[in-house]
Amino acid sequence: MKIVKFGGKSLANGKGLESTLAIIETKVAAKEKLAVVVSARGKSTDHLESILEKAKNNIPFKNEFEEFKAYQNEPDTSIDFSSEFILLDEIFRGVGLLNDYSAKIKDQVLAQGELISAKFIAHQLASKGVNASFVDARKLIITDDEFGNAQPFTEVSQDNVIDYFKQHNSDEVKVITGFIAANEQGETTTLGRNGSNYSASLIANYLNASELQNYTHVNGIYTANPDMVSNSKKIKKLSYQEANEMANFGTNILHAKTIIPLIEKNIPLRILNTFNADNEGTLIGEGSERGGIKSLSVQEHVVLVNLVGRGLLGKTGVDGRIFTALGRENISVSIISQGSSERGIGFIVEAENGSKAKIVLENEFSNEFRSKDISKIYITENVSVISIIGQSLHSFYQPYSALIKNRVTPILINNTVTGDTVCLVVKKSDLNKAVNVIHGEIFGVSKNINIAVVGKGLVGGTLIDQILESKATILKRKNINLNIFAVAGSSKLLLNKEGVSKNWKDDLATTTLQDYEINDVISYAEKHHLENLILVDNTASTAFTNNYISFVENGFDLVSSNKVANTLGYGFYKNLREKLQYYKKSYLYETNVGAGLPLIGTIKLLHDSGENITRIRGVFSGSLSYLFNAFSAEDRPFSEVLKEAIACGYTEPDPREDLCGNDVARKLLILARELDLQNELEDVVVENLIPENLRAGSSQDFLSNLKALDPVYNQIKKAQKEGHVLRYIGDLSGDLQQDKGDLKVELVSVPANSPLGQIKGADAIFEIFTESYGDKPIVIQGAGAGAAVTARGVFGDIIRLADKD
Ligand code: ASP
Ligand code: MG
Repeated sequence: MKIVKFGGKSLANGKGLESTLAIIETKVAAKEKLAVVVSARGKSTDHLESILEKAKNNIPFKNEFEEFKAYQNEPDTSIDFSSEFILLDEIFRGVGLLNDYSAKIKDQVLAQGELISAKFIAHQLASKGVNASFVDARKLIITDDEFGNAQPFTEVSQDNVIDYFKQHNSDEVKVITGFIAANEQGETTTLGRNGSNYSASLIANYLNASELQNYTHVNGIYTANPDMVSNSKKIKKLSYQEANEMANFGTNILHAKTIIPLIEKNIPLRILNTFNADNEGTLIGEGSERGGIKSLSVQEHVVLVNLVGRGLLGKTGVDGRIFTALGRENISVSIISQGSSERGIGFIVEAENGSKAKIVLENEFSNEFRSKDISKIYITENVSVISIIGQSLHSFYQPYSALIKNRVTPILINNTVTGDTVCLVVKKSDLNKAVNVIHGEIFGVSKNINIAVVGKGLVGGTLIDQILESKATILKRKNINLNIFAVAGSSKLLLNKEGVSKNWKDDLATTTLQDYEINDVISYAEKHHLENLILVDNTASTAFTNNYISFVENGFDLVSSNKVANTLGYGFYKNLREKLQYYKKSYLYETNVGAGLPLIGTIKLLHDSGENITRIRGVFSGSLSYLFNAFSAEDRPFSEVLKEAIACGYTEPDPREDLCGNDVARKLLILARELDLQNELEDVVVENLIPENLRAGSSQDFLSNLKALDPVYNQIKKAQKEGHVLRYIGDLSGDLQQDKGDLKVELVSVPANSPLGQIKGADAIFEIFTESYGDKPIVIQGAGAGAAVTARGVFGDIIRLADKD
């Protein structure tokens, strides 16, 4: 014999009802022996509850009651529910007069939902030629007097059920009301909301059924609620133990007590989908304990109660009194946390019991309040519990650190000693993000990295294209999903939580989000619970760097090709780093110096590992590298070479921006600060390559007067020693153990066969002198400018961040 249970949604008018009847018919035709347990149909229980409340509060309820009645008869008007409807009508009117009702009355009202349902299904089956009969469980299951949450008396109930099945034709399909029962006086009781599952498992137990099939509206039990976590997976098989833990921790398909009667008789439970007949569902049964299956479940409607007091230290009996007092009021406590200092105790109760719990405890501890042993009892609302089932503490650091990285700090953490479950209490506003982060972490599903790119110029645009191009490969190779959710231009903002597409340029051009505020990016990420956030700044804007700290405070890591933030005053530099440390965020900017060349990372690593860097020297600027490499090697006037560099786009449109040396000075300062030197931009001694008389004036004037540079540079070139060449370098030296170093940007003459002398084209070169490497510096050389290499460098920083735990 199998027990088959159908829930409210499976029995709702329309597709559910049709499928349910078809499922039963098919089973009967296949000669399966079964008994059916039903819930009330659709949302009938909720409706009855709501009408009752209305009646109590003198709110007109007639319409809702008429709707309720119409719903019950909608698929078949020939079934007579007059006895149920009349009873309900009488009770509602009575409650309307008294403006009150008891738990006993409520049970009587709600029970009608199941009675109507079972009658209805039996009738429908009969009219399809199935031998079916209606069974009122109040004649079989006998409980205590706890209306609304009654406990069955096993022996008598079991005897009743067995007798009933013996006495009635075993070929007939019995359609039994779930949820309802009666006390010893024959008064109607109920087994608690969703109690039909419990009814079904009790009946399965009493009859020693071969299986309990629970037909629901979902395909089975998932690793997390699919409504909350889109990539959650269905679990095929679970042990009772695992299912029991899930039920305990709020997986709402099953109530914990449902499992126990099944374990007792080793009856497998299959969760099936009424709406998807092909699905095998989830099978819960005896099996290897702890098959290593993990899942997440969530309790949303809870509050945290806290009891605090210095006088609790060492006192005995306090905990006992707390739980006794709560137990008297039937308030059940789920998670408990108490520090060894015993200065306080916190625990979770159902939200609806929160204020009651507070009052109960205030009464219980009124003396301790007076003696100031307890200072306060307070409730934290808007919290949720996440339980990671099958999570042992030894590997808990992974989901935990992912949470912290995503700015979710649990309010409370707790683990069960048996069964490996870790429970976290988090703010309700963090729930969605937290569940997704943990789920992603424990199931090794791809890690989402959500990126906002600010600046869509040459570097920014190239970067976006590079990311979109490599996205699929990176997902496959590294299980990292790079998702660009925001692209911010100077006036427009493109937002898409699923990630912008290859058409991002058109989409940005046509977006309606104009005159945005940068805060819109932050609030969008917040609203859509986006995790692992990175802000990429590819602008050259000073103003924009003012937003960095606010991004860090809101959970973003930073990557920038923009140099400004690292060359503002040392105060800002330090403040930003302090914020980064406080919020556990990173800021990477490998492209600030030498574009994509692995320079800053190398220097940082050497410095952090204690290597004493004594000097850094090199050609930092691609445009000036080109200029002096060509001028030194060829017999051409300086102005000719410069004109060529301008024409090739190697320089800024006004080449004085390169020639003034400021760009090199900034880069030098950035490197110095990597070594913890506290230099300011003003400390850099810069040799300006523009003769003084040409510094003012329009760029037009300057460009038409380039020949004026020739005598100056001719002179310098000639004054060199034999076999020497000119190079414009940045040079960091001095005692680098002090607070400040000596920073110089200057034109020097070096032997043509030295490292600096041999570079060609627009290459950059950096010589890093350290104590261990002696007078042979580490040399890093290569293309030090260009959109493609810079974008690739920025991309590298993003990957570095994505790789971090
Ligand atoms: N009809 C009851 C409820 O909605 C019992 C059940 O559906 O299991 O809570
Ligand atoms: Mg239900």
